[in-house]
Amino acid sequence: ALSPDAYRRRHEITVSGNNVPPPFIAFKDTGFPAELLREVLKAGFSAPTPIQAQSWPIALQNRDIVAVAKTGSGKTLGYLIPGFAHLKRAGKNPKMGPTVLVLSPTRELATQIQDEAIKFGKSLKIDCTCLYGGAPKGPQLRELDHGTDIVVATPGRLNDILEMKRVSLSQVSYLVLDEADRMLDMGFEPQIRKIVNAVPTRRQTLMYTATWPKEVRKIAADFMVNPVQVNIGNID
Ligand code: ADP
Ligand code: MG
Repeated sequence: ALSPDAYRRRHEITVSGNNVPPPFIAFKDTGFPAELLREVLKAGFSAPTPIQAQSWPIALQNRDIVAVAKTGSGKTLGYLIPGFAHLKRAGKNPKMGPTVLVLSPTRELATQIQDEAIKFGKSLKIDCTCLYGGAPKGPQLRELDHGTDIVVATPGRLNDILEMKRVSLSQVSYLVLDEADRMLDMGFEPQIRKIVNAVPTRRQTLMYTATWPKEVRKIAADFMVNPVQVNIGNID
């Protein structure tokens, strides 16, 4: 078996932070529940991707993470599975609003994240609601009224629903900003700031981005506490 350092070198993983735990090189290292490991096997996955291997043990320590990695690297399950573990511990009450909130730049990406959450969360009885623009609000509001563990949302639509006071983010304790650089490029910073202001400060925050420009560094500094940074490959 590879040592943690050899694994990081081989997969171009660099980390910064105090006492960063070693990567989970194999699924058997993760301690994930058997139902979930069965789904992972059914999906045909043979090993965690590098971003999963390195970010899972950090996320499971309830630490904030900023991860810089290209698309296609398996980031979605990188944050969803620790989110499932968080939900199990959180003593959630879905009727009071979601515990896990994922912000995503587009409807298409948001629905892909929801699909993954449903596929891998079903055996754990975790449910997920998706909120995005360009579609009527009615069905989305009704889904929220039924209660949900996870909300995946585009910032514009979630901010509208928040201003209508049709969702409470007061139970959110696991916040993910996926494709943060793209959300900023699309001009969503004001909506993101309003949403994050409606989430309690006592929370775990995870941010995923393909690039690391100063605008993204600024929101990372504003929204996270002592994040561990994980980079895969060369970052711009
Ligand atoms: P990213 O968000 O980094 O662009 P995704 O999370 O969309 O990447 O994952 C890309 C593809 O890889 C998806 O089809 C996903 O199901 C698949 N995938 C995720 N984890 C693994 C894994 N451990 N092994 C093989 N494929 C995986
Ligand atoms: Mg992604």
